Amino acid sequence: MMSAVSALRLESICRSYRSGDERLDVLTDLDLEVRSGELVALIAPSGAGKSTLLHVAGLLERPDSGDVYVDGIATRDLADKARTGIRRTGIGFIYQFHHLLPEFSALENVAIPQMANGLSYKNAAERARELLGYLKLSERLDHRPAELSGGEQQRVAIARSIANAPHIILADEPTGNLDPSTSDLVFSMLTRLAREAGIAALIATHNLDLARRADRTVTLKDGKTIAHHFQD
Ligand code: ADP
Ligand code: MG
Repeated sequence: MMSAVSALRLESICRSYRSGDERLDVLTDLDLEVRSGELVALIAPSGAGKSTLLHVAGLLERPDSGDVYVDGIATRDLADKARTGIRRTGIGFIYQFHHLLPEFSALENVAIPQMANGLSYKNAAERARELLGYLKLSERLDHRPAELSGGEQQRVAIARSIANAPHIILADEPTGNLDPSTSDLVFSMLTRLAREAGIAALIATHNLDLARRADRTVTLKDGKTIAHHFQD
């Protein structure tokens, strides 16, 4: 039997931080695989290393040892330029706070990353309009981030994260800043998009109700990922 395609694979990852004489081992020989089309929720307490894991997985940080495979390609020995290329075209990021450009409209915020990737404004804006429409934001295209609600800002951030059609989405507490019903809506839109596009999604969240809707849930224990099982 053919195994499903591994979009993201973390193999024996170690990552420590140093401050003075102290060494903090955050990730210790961590393994994790996310297949194409799979939605994995990462649930762990604050300080457990979720953001560190996502930064390493997204090639924003290099591990001290171990390797990250993106679509089967080992990234450890790649130069920064190649890693940036993979990140820009293959990986979409969503953060707890939207990180949208304040001076630009919703449409422009989704168009700009595509233009950085070589698309004309016309084509980028067309795709931005389509994505924002899908996220039910057709009435908000010209609004700047400050003129949007928290849930709307996160939906723009979702549209931006998938603008360049990545294979992988890494989301760091994407609904952490939203009220429960808005969280639910934003999470539903994110998961629906990821599933329909066959994207591998790794979503750090504190929200157990949302995590239940993932295909699989993992947690971090002593710097390693282990399967998470709900108590009830
Ligand atoms: P989480 O996202 O699960 O809350 P983080 O990955 O942000 O956890 O942090 C894991 C641990 O590593 C925390 O104890 C944090 O204080 C520490 N840490 C994170 N980033 C740094 C850094 N740049 N320098 C030193 N320590 C850090
Ligand atoms: Mg964090």
